[in-house]
Parts: sequence; structure tokens; C-alpha cells
Amino acid sequence: MADLVLFWHRRDLRLGDNVGLAAACDRTANVIGLFCLDPDILRGDDVAPARVAYMIGCLKALQASYAKAGGQLLIVQGDPRQQIPALAQALKADAIYWNRDVEPYSRQRDTDVAQALKAAGIEFHTKFWDQLLHAPGEVQTQAGDPYTVYTPFWRNWVKHNKAAPLPAPEGLNALTAQQQDAAQQAGCIDLPRAADLGFAWENGFPIEPGEAAALARLEEFCDDERAIATYDERRNFPFVDGTSRLSAALKFGAVGVRTVWAAADAAYGRCRSDETRDNVRTWQQELAWREFYQQVLYFFPQLADGPYRSQWQDFPWVNDKDHFAAWCHGRTGYPIVDAAMRQLNETGWMHNRCRMIVASFLTKDLIINWQWGEKYFMQHLVDGDLAANNGGWQWSASSGMDPKPLRIFNPASQAQKFDGEAEYIRQWVPELRSVDTGPLVTGKIAEQERDRTGYPAPIVDHKTQQALFKDKYKAQKA
Ligand SMILES: Cc1cc2nc3c(=O)[nH]c(=O)nc-3n(C[C@H](O)[C@H](O)[C@H](O)COP(=O)(O)OP(=O)(O)OC[C@H]3O[C@@H](n4cnc5c(N)ncnc54)[C@H](O)[C@@H]3O)c2cc1C
Repeated sequence: MADLVLFWHRRDLRLGDNVGLAAACDRTANVIGLFCLDPDILRGDDVAPARVAYMIGCLKALQASYAKAGGQLLIVQGDPRQQIPALAQALKADAIYWNRDVEPYSRQRDTDVAQALKAAGIEFHTKFWDQLLHAPGEVQTQAGDPYTVYTPFWRNWVKHNKAAPLPAPEGLNALTAQQQDAAQQAGCIDLPRAADLGFAWENGFPIEPGEAAALARLEEFCDDERAIATYDERRNFPFVDGTSRLSAALKFGAVGVRTVWAAADAAYGRCRSDETRDNVRTWQQELAWREFYQQVLYFFPQLADGPYRSQWQDFPWVNDKDHFAAWCHGRTGYPIVDAAMRQLNETGWMHNRCRMIVASFLTKDLIINWQWGEKYFMQHLVDGDLAANNGGWQWSASSGMDPKPLRIFNPASQAQKFDGEAEYIRQWVPELRSVDTGPLVTGKIAEQERDRTGYPAPIVDHKTQQALFKDKYKAQKA
């Protein structure tokens, strides 16, 4: 096979609308896909079974897409610094292509792999930004600095032209029998199941893994009058299916972000009132939040290791381990918090409103370091993503870049406003199903009801903890 090119997939598990893959396919039809199962990532203590299972499902779908296009996706397992150059050498590949990433680990890994390829005399192309509509640095302040505040970022970001989706490659070629042998000898394996990697997950996904399922969900969400066109009104109610559930697909690139933007823009174009246009705009703003957090992580990689604001570096957290365990298991005695944590534990996904509620509760009511919560989320979320998760936690803890310093959610008012009929609470805390709505929402469940249902008393008092938190915060600022 003349001019063989490898394309290394990472968080772009699809054929369509893939910037680096399209560039590789412009060069030759002999593009072989490659994915490396990296033990450094899989052995980490922040890996969610749901996430690994979703990823493996996406890889399975990607293998099928390659086969349909005439091509092939190879799987290797091990340190990419060794695996990638070894496979390229074994196949006598002419070049290897991949898309860039924003995460500190990925950037270091890519630098190392590039160095190893250079030393082996193998050509590589890595300038492609695929996972973002605008590469880091493309949207800057007037002074030429990266934005650190979302609203001005959004105002400028939305004005920039967005690239159109790219077509999926067709007519690819697979390896010859001889090359296939060489690939096997260089360590290529069959795609394992998530359970083979130690991550059994039987509880399903917000949407099925793979490109076809992501595209179908995008179409359903953007074409449906009740979905994107009412997003702003419905997105805050956790019992309502009012959001896209595309987060895991976006995290793993089962769908291209240009495709997502184009679908939203088309929906915007179909709107016939300012009201519906505002709803679509709000959804587009969420996509911009995703880009905002990725570009701040790119420019401020230290965010991954701790708070952005210096007064939070040595904040006197209480860090009570029993309280943390109660939070993790949905046994705090605050029904809305417990419902949300149980949704996370059971499904690997949590509604955004509830992510904000439980994050505020952990940091401001239990006064536990937000990094404990950040890690727990990563251990469970199917869409767990360093930039979005870290951004969400720092926003909730008030330790991040957001100019509003203190944000304390009252669990009772949140439940009253967003789960007024306690439908979400009843769904996820089944022992409370027979309790009246009023106490479920306010959290004031009578002792005899608690005795009857086995539901715990509140582990802390919101008012007392809020005052304690504020005192600590004031002292820290002084
Ligand atoms: C404490 C906390 C932790 C979070 N951790 C993650 C995480 O690990 N991974 C993750 O993808 N999102 C995270 N979010 C953001 C948000 O909760 C999820 O993206 C959203 O709930 C996913 O559901 P959806 O796909 O239906 O979203 P939709 O409401 O349909 O939004 C569309 C897309 O926009 C992006 N998005 C939406 N809100 C945000 C946001 N606040 N920040 C960044 N991107 C956003 C997501 O890619 C999402 O799929 C977190 C939020 C908080 C408060």
C-alpha cells in the first residue's frame, strides 16, 4: 500500500466532521484509524465505569463506520509514547495525523509522542483543532489576552464566523494481509469490552454511544419545537427531559462541534419569534461555556490542580469524612441533594441544575473542599470532562474566574423553584414516595416519617452552616 497514513483518534470518535481525519484523507485513501488504550488514563483513580463503557461503545461504532467506508480502525494498548511509533514503524507508515487537545496530560503526552516520532524519522501532522469551534487564542480580549470572564468571551466568540461541518470520508482502504500481520505483531488487539478493562457498567447511557446515535439525538433535539425552541424555559427542571443529553457525545467527539453548531443555527433560522430565538441562543451559550472552559484550561493549566483565586489555596475546609460519605451516597437528609446524587450514582449523569445544587451544598453547607467533589464527579460521570467539570466546580465553589465571589444555594428554595411537585425527588429517593410534597420540597420531614421510611435527618443545618461558611470566607479574605 503506497503512502500509508495513520490517524490517531482520541476524543474524536467519529468519521464525519473530523478536521484532522479530513486532512489525512485529502492526502490519501490509505488512512488507517488507530486508538490507543492508555493505562496512564485507565489506571487513574478518577475513571468512571460509565465513561469507559461509553467510550468503548463509541469505538465499536467507529470500527463499524470504518469498515463501512472500506477502511479499518486498529486498537493498541499501552503507553502511546511507545505504541504509536512502534506501530507506525511496523506498518512503514508515511505519516501520522491527530487533532490537538487542551488538557495538560494530553498536551504533554502529545509532545512526548511527537518527539518519539521525530527520533524515529516518522512524519507527523498535529496542527488541527477539532473539538472546538474556535482554537485557543482565536478569540481574545482587545489587549490580546485570553478571556477570564465568560460574558465578554461569549459576546466576542459568537461574532466570529463558525466553520461548516466536514463530510465523512468514503472509499478508504484497509490494510493488506501482510500489513495486517505486521500490525498484529506490533501489538494490535481486538477491541476489549469495558468489563475486560475492569469497568463493568450495566446501567445504560443518556444516549447510546457512537456517531449515529449522537447525530440522531442532535437532529431530534434541534428539529423538535418542544426541545431547542423551549430550552430556556425547560432546561432548569430536572424532572423534565429539557436538555440535549449530548454531553458525553461532545466529550468523546461522537459528534463534531461544527455539526452541532450548524444544527442549532439552522434551528435559529427557522424561529419565527424573538422568544424562540432566545431559547436557541441560550443553548448556543451552553456550547460557548464548553469552549470557554476549554480555552481557560489551555491558557491556565494550573486550574486542573487547584483554585484560580489565591484566597482559596489554604481555605480552612471542615472536610468531615462522614459528611462526605453521606453526600456521595445520597444520605444527607436534604431530599433534592440526595435525589441528585442517587441519579449520578445510578445513571452516570446528573441534570445541570442539580450539579449546581449539590456542588453548592458540598462546598458551602458541608464546607468540604470542592476538589473532593470534583474527583467524585469524575469517578461517576459519563460525560466527565476535566475542563467542564473543573470549571463547574470552581464556579460553584466561587474559587474560579467568575467575578461574583459568593454563590450559596438554599436547597429548599432550589427544590421549591425547580422541583415544586417533588417529582424528581420521588423518582430518585423511592423511600420518600409516599411523603407529602411540602416536606419533600422544604426538606422538613417529620421525625415519624423519617422513622417510617428510614430516611436520615439533615446532617447539617443550612442556616448555621451558611453563617459559618461566611465567617470563614471573611476571615480568609481579611
Ligand atoms: C459542578 C459541575 C460539574 C460539571 N461537570 C461537567 C462535566 O464533567 N462534563 C460536562 O460536559 N459538563 C459538566 N458540567 C456542565 C453541565 O452540567 C453539563 O454539560 C450538562 O448537564 C450536560 O447535559 P446536556 O448535554 O443535556 O446539556 P445541554 O444543556 O443540552 O447543553 C449542551 C452542551 O453544552 C455543554 N455545556 C452545557 N453546560 C455547560 C457548562 N456549564 N459548562 C461546560 N459545558 C456546558 C455540554 O457539552 C452540553 O452537552 C458540570 C456542571 C457543574 C455545575
